[in-house]
Amino acid sequence: MKAIVIGTGYVGLVTGACLAEVGTQVVCVDVNAEKINNLQNGILPIYEPGLEEIVTRNYNNGRLSFSTNLAEVIPGADIAFIAVGTPPGEDGSADLQYVLQVAKEIGTHMTDYLVVVTKSTVPVGTAVKVNREIKQAMLDRGALLDYDVASNPEFLKEGAAVQDFLKPDRIVCGVNTDRAKEVLERLYHPFLLNGRPIIFMDIASAEMTKYAANAMLATKISFINDIANLCELVGADVNKVRKGIGSDARIGNSFIYPGIGYGGSCFPKDVKALVRTGMEYGHGLRILEAVEAVNNDQKKVLFHKISKHFDGMLKDKTFAVWGLSFKPGTDDMREASSLVLIEALLEAGAKVRVFDPVAAHEAKKTLGESVTWATDLYDAAEGADAVLLVTEWNEFRLPDWTRIKQIVKTPVVFDGRNIYDNTYLEKNGFICYSIGISQPA
Ligand code: NAD
Repeated sequence: MKAIVIGTGYVGLVTGACLAEVGTQVVCVDVNAEKINNLQNGILPIYEPGLEEIVTRNYNNGRLSFSTNLAEVIPGADIAFIAVGTPPGEDGSADLQYVLQVAKEIGTHMTDYLVVVTKSTVPVGTAVKVNREIKQAMLDRGALLDYDVASNPEFLKEGAAVQDFLKPDRIVCGVNTDRAKEVLERLYHPFLLNGRPIIFMDIASAEMTKYAANAMLATKISFINDIANLCELVGADVNKVRKGIGSDARIGNSFIYPGIGYGGSCFPKDVKALVRTGMEYGHGLRILEAVEAVNNDQKKVLFHKISKHFDGMLKDKTFAVWGLSFKPGTDDMREASSLVLIEALLEAGAKVRVFDPVAAHEAKKTLGESVTWATDLYDAAEGADAVLLVTEWNEFRLPDWTRIKQIVKTPVVFDGRNIYDNTYLEKNGFICYSIGISQPA
C-alpha cells in the first residue's frame, strides 16, 4: 500500500514512520521546507523516544520519504492522512484552516481513487467540510474522481507515541463506505494481530470519540486536583485517598495523580473546543467548563504555596525549576504549567534557574534570557532559596539530597508532582510541600 501523511508533527511523523515500519510505502509531506530538508538529513523536528531509530531505518530502506510537494507524490496513493495542527481559534473552537487547506490541495492534485482520512483532532462535522473542499477543488479543474472521506482520530501520547501507535489500545475509524473500510482494515491489519480492536463507526461518532476521550481524561485530572486541594484544608492526604479510590475497579488507578494541572497541545485545546461545540448546539457542557477553570487555577497552586512560605517576599529570591516540558518524555512546551509558574515568579521579582533534560531548546523560544539555563539539576539548585519540581522526569526522582542540601541556600522543596517522600526529606532537614497533603503546623 502507499500512504501519504500530510503534516509531519508529533502525530504525522509518528504515523508515517510506524506505517512504514510494518511495510507500507509512506511519503510524509509538510509545507515547512526546513523540516523536510532536516528529515532528509536525518534530523528530527521533535523529541520522541524510539522515533529517530524507526525514521532512520525506514528512510534508509526506502519505505519512508519526505517531500514538500504533494502534487508530485500523490499519484498512486491508496490513502492520504491529514495530520496538520488544529490550534484553538480566538473563541476556543478548533481552527480548521490548515485541515481545509490540505483538503483543497488533495482535491487539486489527486489522480485516482483515494481514501482521505482526517487524523487531526477535528470537531464533528469536519468531514463534511473536508468533502466539500475536495469536491470544489476537483470541480475547479474539471475533474471528477472517486474518493472517500474518513475519520481516524489519533490517541497516541507524547513521550510514548511510537509504542502507542505500534500497540494501540484500539483504532477508531469513522467511515461511510465499505470501500474506505476495506482500505483502512488492510492498512491497520499488521497492528491488530494481537487481538487489538479496530472499531468502525459513522464519521460523526469517530470525530466525537476523540474529544470525549480527551475530555474524560482532563476531567479525571481536574477532579483529583480539586479533591487534593480540599484534602489540604481538611487534613487528609490525597496520596492515600487516591489509592483508596483507585482500587475500586469502576474508578481505576490511572489518571488520578494530583499535580499542577494538565498542559500540552491536546487537553487544553480539546476541552475548549468541545465546550465551544456544546455552545454552538445550545448545550452547555458545565462539567467541562469547570474542568478547565479548575485546571487554570491548578497551574497557579505551586506559586501560591511558594508565596505563602516566603510571606510574599519573592523579590531577588532564587528558585530552581526542575523540568519545563508539559510532561516527561517530550520536548513539547505547549501550555506547559512551568510557563505559568515561571512567569509568576519573574513578575514577583524572583530569579529563576531552570533545567530540563530535553525541552530547553523549545523552552528558550518562550523564556529566552529571562531565566538562567542550568546544565543539570544540581547546577539549577546552586544557591537556590527553594527547589521546585515541575516535570517528573525520571532523572529527578532520586536526586542526591545530601549534595543538594549543601548547595542550596535554604533546604525547601516544592514538589508539584508528588514524587518525593516527604517524611524522608523532612528527616533530612528539608521543608517539603506537595499537592494535596496538609502541611504540619
Ligand atoms: P504539530 O503542530 O506538531 O504538526 C503539524 C504539522 O503540520 C507542522 O509540521 C506543520 O508545518 C504542518 N502543516 C501545516 N499546514 C500544512 C499544510 N497545508 N500542508 C502540509 N503540512 C502542513 O501538530 P501535532 O501535535 O502533530 O497535532 C496534529 C493534530 O493531531 C492536531 O489536530 C492534534 O490535536 C492532533 N493530535 C495530537 C496529539 C499529540 O500528542 N500531539 C495526539 C493526538 C492527536
